[in-house]
Amino acid sequence: SKREGFSSIPNVKWEDVGGLGDIRDEFDLYIISRIKYPDDYQKFGVNLETGILLYGPPGCGKTMIAKAAANEAGANFIHVKGPELLNKYVGESELAVRTLFSRARTCSPCIIFFDEVDALTTMRGKEGGWVVERLLNQLLIEPEVMDPAVLRPGRFGKLIHVPLPSSEDRGLILKALAKGKPIDPSVDLAAIGQMEACKNFSGADLRKLMEEAAMTALKEAKRQRHLNETSGTITATQNEPSVNITATH
Ligand code: ATP
Repeated sequence: SKREGFSSIPNVKWEDVGGLGDIRDEFDLYIISRIKYPDDYQKFGVNLETGILLYGPPGCGKTMIAKAAANEAGANFIHVKGPELLNKYVGESELAVRTLFSRARTCSPCIIFFDEVDALTTMRGKEGGWVVERLLNQLLIEPEVMDPAVLRPGRFGKLIHVPLPSSEDRGLILKALAKGKPIDPSVDLAAIGQMEACKNFSGADLRKLMEEAAMTALKEAKRQRHLNETSGTITATQNEPSVNITATH
């Protein structure tokens, strides 16, 4: 069982993530293999930055990838929203960061996922920006990054762009989302991904599409059941409701 604020190994698997194959490879090299085979990395004397900055439009899988990586590495996962660590009282933001990292160390290997970092960076330089500055400095001290310049735009250890999915990736995401659901075999998810109507859809949009299709199927199943129940001559079918996305549009 999972309690809020406690770390655990996420249950997101790579096969739940549609597309993003290149990013998966980078995560494998920079994080997963490093946790699983630390000796190899030691041998080669590789001392990489420990942080990866994921950037891109919302709902395209940043959180999912990080969770899948933790799952694959057998690592614990702590999800924090950057602004949550802010506290205007002197020393409190630093303390929050130190507490976070010491918690992560006690459940090592552990991946800390900082969300909403963009909210922090836009607060920098504004009134009260010093709180953010101190928070970021403490953050750098914790992963033993000694050159604060890494937090200047473009200087962060490893930058990975998570883009809107291509038309082909949309099909892969739909397939990943469809896993385990009773979908009519005649439904061509790859073809739906290619549809103009899905242009610029994020993964989160595709998930919404699947949910709406499921609701339509459930409504249809309910209507069928109602028909069956009200007609004494027809027996209820035992069929599972099946999703047919093409029929909803
Ligand atoms: P935000 O920037 O808003 O936090 P994010 O990039 O972290 O967004 P996620 O939280 O990973 O996005 O994605 C939101 C939801 O959209 C996921 O829970 C999943 O259902 C779906 N989704 C997004 N991308 C993918 C993908 N590549 N494969 C499968 N599902 C996806």
